[in-house]
Amino acid sequence: MSEAKKMFIDGAWTAGTGTTVKEIVDPATGKVIATTVQATLDDVNAAVAAARRAFDEGPWRSTTALERSLLLLKLADVIDAHAEEIAAIETGNNGKPLREAGYDVADAANCFRYYAGLITKPMGQTYEVPEAMQAMTVREPVGVCGQIVPWNYPLLMGAWKLAPALAAGNTVVFKPAEVTPLSIHRLFELMEPFFPAGVINLVLGKGSLVGNRIAEHNDVDKVAFTGGTDTGRSIMKAAAGNIKKLSLELGGKSPCVVFEDADIETAVDWALFAIFCNQGQVCSAGSRLLVQKSIHDKFVKRLVERAKKIKVGPGATEGTEMGPLVSKSQMETVLKYIEIGKADGATLVTGGNRLTGGAYDGGYFVEPTIFDNCTSKMRVVQEEIFGPVLVVLTFEDEAEAIKLANDTVYGLAGGVFTQDGARGLRFIKKLRAGITWINAYHPTYNEAPWGGYKQSGTGRELGTYGIEAYTEVKQININLNPGPIGWFAE
Ligand code: NAD
Repeated sequence: MSEAKKMFIDGAWTAGTGTTVKEIVDPATGKVIATTVQATLDDVNAAVAAARRAFDEGPWRSTTALERSLLLLKLADVIDAHAEEIAAIETGNNGKPLREAGYDVADAANCFRYYAGLITKPMGQTYEVPEAMQAMTVREPVGVCGQIVPWNYPLLMGAWKLAPALAAGNTVVFKPAEVTPLSIHRLFELMEPFFPAGVINLVLGKGSLVGNRIAEHNDVDKVAFTGGTDTGRSIMKAAAGNIKKLSLELGGKSPCVVFEDADIETAVDWALFAIFCNQGQVCSAGSRLLVQKSIHDKFVKRLVERAKKIKVGPGATEGTEMGPLVSKSQMETVLKYIEIGKADGATLVTGGNRLTGGAYDGGYFVEPTIFDNCTSKMRVVQEEIFGPVLVVLTFEDEAEAIKLANDTVYGLAGGVFTQDGARGLRFIKKLRAGITWINAYHPTYNEAPWGGYKQSGTGRELGTYGIEAYTEVKQININLNPGPIGWFAE
């Protein structure tokens, strides 16, 4: 096997000071496909110091918005030019079907384009104040940004963080998830020629060590994190020392709600996409299906028919619609939850097993799984499983639907299906969630804000909110009649 993949610190590829390496596995086969070095705390400190120097003293701070914009546009073209290669890396490391990986790469390139455009647009404001003073605001970069991402969208989550941070003129220390570093590693190789030393730093390693050090480091000004809610809580505590700015994109248990007047074929189709796309490993997955009682039997019958037809297989195989779960441990977590669902009395109507033999051998494949007759108290209804497991509940009327939909500690996303436009909007306005759909589920855009209510996080990424999250607001007051204030007698 080729040598262990290195980190990128202060403008150079380095093995760091550690001695351990991590094996990176293809979840479709269970085979090791690469190894990476693992950072020590000294390596993280070196990356933060490099980012600090690059921000405080380097040439990066004096680049114009237009210069950074042109640079990010070129980077987006480079990503496009390597799209097939990066998509294959993502599928090989994460397991997702190649067509999904292809969308992720295109979205990532466009995220850099979006922020390349946005950064040259007006951002400050002027204020009319009751004195001969001109008050105004300018936006400035926050400084050194620690960025920590999960394994479900390794490249795309990276782009969502790197693009606005770099457009705004920050420097970054970036940490991918331990199990899925390969696409981001390749992205850093492609980014290397564009940035002065220290502006982009890549550290590899365990969250509890490397991620935690980034979160607690006093020279880091901001942490942007996407991952589980418990990890978010721990990052919040670690970040308290120097009152870091925080963006937290956390877990979810989002409702997909179908009223009796919905077009059944359309709603079934979206409900499948809501839960089984990316193997159910989507923070905003529609993992709780709420169906009006009057259509329950017909709806679930059709849903199960369609779920059974989903083509599960290696992500790189032509025609695969659902790949393996990302890791052995994630597969075990999902299988454990399936047992919990059965024990709690939910009715397993399809799936429920690991797939083995033939093309599945050695891989972490789990069947699309649906539990019917669920109640809100069940653990499979309340806890985020993060896999291809859907729970079905029923409701009588709109009031009960909204009560059930909001009966969760999370508030990331939700969708509603109905042909009554007023009801759709009325429902969404009562839903305590940050990303919502009427007669759709999942499509989301670089141009619009992303983030959660309640324990699904704090702050927003993407859209204009994304650039705000990577800038500080400075108030400037200019005295229009310069002279003494005369407050104290001479
Ligand atoms: P995770 O929280 O275990 O890990 C996410 C990242 O945090 C990884 O890079 C990990 O190494 C690091 N980390 C772990 N412990 C840490 C610590 N103590 N301090 C600092 N960093 C630490 O999440 P995961 O299992 O990789 O991903 C799944 C979770 O991510 C799910 O809960 C999912 O809902 C969430 N997610 C949320 C969004 C969103 O936008 N809201 C998007 C994708 C995934």
